[in-house]
Amino acid sequence: MNRRNLLKNAGAAGLLACLPGEITAFAAEKKSGVHAASVKTEIYRLKLRHTWTTTMSSSTYRDVLYVHYHHDGIHGVGEGAPIVRYKEDAKGAQAAVESVLPLLDSSDPTQFEKVISEVFARVPGEWAGKAAIDIAMMDWMGKKLGVPLYEYYGLDPRDAPVTDFSIGIDTPAITREKVREAAAFPVLKIKVGLDTDEQTIAAVRSVTDKPLRVDANEGWTDREVAARKIDWLAKQGVQFVEQPMPADRIDDLRWLHARSSLPLMGDESCRHPADIPKLVGVFDALNFKLDKTGGMTQTYMMIQMARALGFKTMLGCMVSSSCSITAAAHLSPLVDYADLDGNLLVANDPYRGVTVKEGKLILPDRPGLGLLPA
Ligand code: MG
Repeated sequence: MNRRNLLKNAGAAGLLACLPGEITAFAAEKKSGVHAASVKTEIYRLKLRHTWTTTMSSSTYRDVLYVHYHHDGIHGVGEGAPIVRYKEDAKGAQAAVESVLPLLDSSDPTQFEKVISEVFARVPGEWAGKAAIDIAMMDWMGKKLGVPLYEYYGLDPRDAPVTDFSIGIDTPAITREKVREAAAFPVLKIKVGLDTDEQTIAAVRSVTDKPLRVDANEGWTDREVAARKIDWLAKQGVQFVEQPMPADRIDDLRWLHARSSLPLMGDESCRHPADIPKLVGVFDALNFKLDKTGGMTQTYMMIQMARALGFKTMLGCMVSSSCSITAAAHLSPLVDYADLDGNLLVANDPYRGVTVKEGKLILPDRPGLGLLPA
């Protein structure tokens, strides 16, 4: 191949990675010198303080994905914690983000609605990867405008709710130890859903009389058994029960809702905007997580939809660092309940952001997410 053909082919290969609109955009940027962003991804291993067990998995670490968005001298950072339940992992999230780098590099971040919609249109699944992009762009946007993100959304940080503290499934002795360690939190969320539920709640109740929330993570498969367990939990000072049965068992969940002596909250049943109207009469409340919905932009819209349909709302999280938890916390003045403790389970958090005082979320008032190095 002569030099001319080599250059021609190399140019064609480079262009093949772009869509026609992007090629035009690149050309326009080169001319104006605007919208040349640099986006980098990084997989980071979070080490956990305790082995974390739910009905879904058990682990001593979690790999998350960071997206670093640099543009116009401003750095935005976002995080996604891939959810095993949806067959996601950090490498898949990273590949998804890298598949849209030409789009991100060439788009105007002040028009993030259009950019995020385009990312959603191009990337199937990979909700944690999308969340990392969205959070990075929102951090960038807040910094660009010089406002903390709660202010960008028109929210009062004093309305941020108390967060509960989650206790994973463990032996009664370790459960008691974890409950004692959570002394600063006025409400606890207890993971159940195995055949040790009564034993777990008894261990918790042997050391505290705080209000409890219970999350079965789809663990109960018989609706009559679920109803009996809920009757028992209603006598144990439990506020509500989260996702008692598998997400796809909507008819059983509706039956259980009509029969339940406690309010029911949907989590695994509620992933995307179109799920929400179908859950009227099935749950009283819905749990939103940035890693499940694909970021702050989507979550804000879904919380508003749920409120309009009469649901109580909660912001929840995966095991994550302070980057993702702080992003969710900036939206938390909108919701009734918070379960934003994922960073507190981590031993090597690289960031500082939202803090917790006697359970209440205290939002940073610096621009964007307001993160500092740990
Ligand atoms: Mg849950």
